[in-house]
Amino acid sequence: MTDWQTLQRQLSSLEGRSYREYKSIKGNYEFPDFELTIDYVQGDPFAAPSRIRIRLNQQIARFPALWLTNYVAQVAIADYVTRQVAQVAQSLAKKRGSGKSGSIGIAAPSQAILRRTAVWIDAQGIEARLTVGLPAFGRRIAGQAATELLCDDIPQLVAHGLKYTSLDSEALTHQIQTLQDAEALRSQLEPNGLVAFIADKACLPRRSGIDERPLIDEAEPFIPPADNFIELETPHSGRVKGLGIRAGVTLIVGGGYHGKSTLLRAIEQGIYNHVPGDGRQQVVTHSGAVKLRAEDGRSVVGVDVSPVINHLPKGRRSKSFSTTNASGSTSQAAGLIEAVEAGASVVLIDEDTAATNFMIRDRKMQALTAKDKEPITPFVDKVRQLHDDYGISTILVMGGSGDYFAVADTVIAMEDYQPRIVTQQAKAIAQADDYQRRSEGGQHFGDITQRAVLPDSLPPEKGDRSPQIKARLDTLMLGYESVDLRAVEQISEAHQVRAIAQAILYAQQYYFDHKMPLSQVLDRVMEDIKRGGLDALAIGLAPERPFISGDLAEFRRFELAAAINRLRTLQIAPVA
Ligand code: ADP
Ligand code: MG
Repeated sequence: MTDWQTLQRQLSSLEGRSYREYKSIKGNYEFPDFELTIDYVQGDPFAAPSRIRIRLNQQIARFPALWLTNYVAQVAIADYVTRQVAQVAQSLAKKRGSGKSGSIGIAAPSQAILRRTAVWIDAQGIEARLTVGLPAFGRRIAGQAATELLCDDIPQLVAHGLKYTSLDSEALTHQIQTLQDAEALRSQLEPNGLVAFIADKACLPRRSGIDERPLIDEAEPFIPPADNFIELETPHSGRVKGLGIRAGVTLIVGGGYHGKSTLLRAIEQGIYNHVPGDGRQQVVTHSGAVKLRAEDGRSVVGVDVSPVINHLPKGRRSKSFSTTNASGSTSQAAGLIEAVEAGASVVLIDEDTAATNFMIRDRKMQALTAKDKEPITPFVDKVRQLHDDYGISTILVMGGSGDYFAVADTVIAMEDYQPRIVTQQAKAIAQADDYQRRSEGGQHFGDITQRAVLPDSLPPEKGDRSPQIKARLDTLMLGYESVDLRAVEQISEAHQVRAIAQAILYAQQYYFDHKMPLSQVLDRVMEDIKRGGLDALAIGLAPERPFISGDLAEFRRFELAAAINRLRTLQIAPVA
């Protein structure tokens, strides 16, 4: 290993040289209290920035040993440090020349606490992965500025971001305890027959439609119904009171603008843990909960939609339904079956983003259109069977139709943002003869055909290079293929999308095969990540020269499946 003074000398000697010569600084450098690795050097000051890693031993970082053997605490600390480093980086970064010269970046987290590759901590040490813009004037190396960046700023960042003594230990402890409490709450859902829990005083509304931070001044805290709440235990906050949503079919009703969608949205995000101050730290949802919505225009490949769609016009096959341009209802039907296929345990639907003809078919419409002219069996006739036959619960926001009263186990009314249980009234209304409709679509949900993903599901790249990945919250680019993820609403960060992209390439390399059902591919990929961390993907893709990135965040099998299912180049075969 080279010492840091050598790096300093080398940078000075590069002053004014061609930018390309920066490549020579790739390698490992020993600083007084940390180690710096330069993994990748950008080709010019405007290109994607260079990637570096910083490593400290625990003798120097000094995080309490007690925490470092606990997985949940590790995740909480890594997330906390990522946010801290992001702040310090922002204060240190300054423009030091052309393009991205002088930038210091770390993968910015959302409101969720996730396992990410940006920071890793264990009993031995702590590692942070950053990007830096190596400074230049035009295409000439700015050696002095580079020395300041790597030999002054980075040590500053280590001092203020990566050492326990420089952190706010009270805030860090609070973050660890918040995460441990949330995990404890989630683990009590199943044993209590629940699929979601919304704690007393939770703050559900967000600042705006494009800002996930909590609404502050006008937010009304959530109050569980006085006659219908439950209590769960937490290690750090004692017994916590809240509204428990039971397994089965739950309906959320109420007038417009009374907080129904806000409640469902909080439940959707309850699959993740949230940072202190978010307002949803104690809103927890079963980790198998999948949001479903209509998504007209999406592509669907070989999905067995026969449980909900039959007799399509022009003899289209519903056992293996494909389209490059789905309608609202068929996209939602495909989404439902894909969720079942991927192993969902709870389905979440909001009327605001659902296709009406997928959700309901009322008595008058039944009278007008004969069943054999309507390919769709509405979800109202399938939602019970989904639970009885497959054990999949549903939480549904439906303010516009009472047809679901008859099939719901629980009806929650939202009024002025507060919940009330109105199951009895709803059942009484449902039982009054006048309103009864005929159910359609048989006694059972129906079997679905498993699909295998074929290896040539991704377009071939030139040479043996893997396709370039571009990841945004709402779109994934794999080479020239773009995957629209706007309707995959439980993705919380672009870093998850990047990891999903790698997982698709990884699955293609190792598991896509005409004999392996998609659900098994998902099992294998998730298992590999569990064993080897998110880096296992990059290592699997290029064992000789893995692309070590600090820009990955953990994701669920459902979002991976959703991205695969939206590949327009997807090729599948039914598995017997
Ligand atoms: P609905 O789906 O019932 O029509 P929304 O959930 O969309 O209603 O909520 C309507 C508006 O009220 C939104 O702007 C939302 O941010 C706001 N809101 C929701 N819950 C609360 C709350 N607890 N306190 C303050 N504002 C809220
Ligand atoms: Mg709504």
